[in-house]
Amino acid sequence: MDRHFNCTACGKCCFGWLPLTLNDALSHAGRFPLALVWTPVPHGTRAFALSARLGATIRLRNRRQIAVLVTPTAYLPPSFPCPELSAEGLCGIHADKPLRCRTMPFYPYREEQDQADLLLPRKGWACDTSAAAPVVYHNRIILERSDFDRERLELHDQAPTMRTYADYVLKYMPWIVDSLEAIALKPGGNVITSLSSFLTAIRQIDAADVAARQLPVLKAYAARTANAPELAEYQRNYSGWAKEMEYLAGIGPSQTPG
Ligand code: SF4
Ligand code: SF4
Repeated sequence: MDRHFNCTACGKCCFGWLPLTLNDALSHAGRFPLALVWTPVPHGTRAFALSARLGATIRLRNRRQIAVLVTPTAYLPPSFPCPELSAEGLCGIHADKPLRCRTMPFYPYREEQDQADLLLPRKGWACDTSAAAPVVYHNRIILERSDFDRERLELHDQAPTMRTYADYVLKYMPWIVDSLEAIALKPGGNVITSLSSFLTAIRQIDAADVAARQLPVLKAYAARTANAPELAEYQRNYSGWAKEMEYLAGIGPSQTPG
């Protein structure tokens, strides 16, 4: 079966969380406020095997095994546009935009044959799925696949690093297992950890450089969310993580990454 899709550049999908490859997250650390998003994938679901390859597997306290995707993410409130979205709805860094933006609407965290529903525009999105739009998905095969393959390859390549980080968190923040267990059966549930914990765990990355670029971004978002009670959790995270970045950048007192 043929599925048609054309992006009309309405900009409506450029709001809220944006999952990033690790390379994209680090190279855009001076642009996006970053966090690590943990998404549990229960055993027996369609996405389990791929999620286990791209992420980690964890045994919950009730002995059930889950896969967990640990995804570097531009951590923006759903109502906030990407900082690179122009007033006209266009991308300000088109030539340099993250792989995730290039691959849209396909999603390499899922199997290739399980993408059809992603081609249905969400409410308010102006994607063209009419017969006039190009065929992009045929018999569950992605036709123009270079961006999908590149993003999938990066996700595979970074998987050992993400597993090292997951092991670190499970060792030093073991309560995360309880949080994952609490949301494991709720579709769409996530646990958030800080970029500073990631930079502390993964020694090969120049933490001071990343922190120096991330610090002004977190401070700016802390200020932007300061008077919005509905964004209190974002505000708390931006403010706390900014302090941790000051330490990692070598310009502030020690904080315990969380
Ligand atoms: S980088 Fe560009 S395409 Fe990606 S979310 Fe931001 S504005 Fe949209
Ligand atoms: S919502 Fe659809 S049409 Fe609008 S920018 Fe995103 S992919 Fe393109």
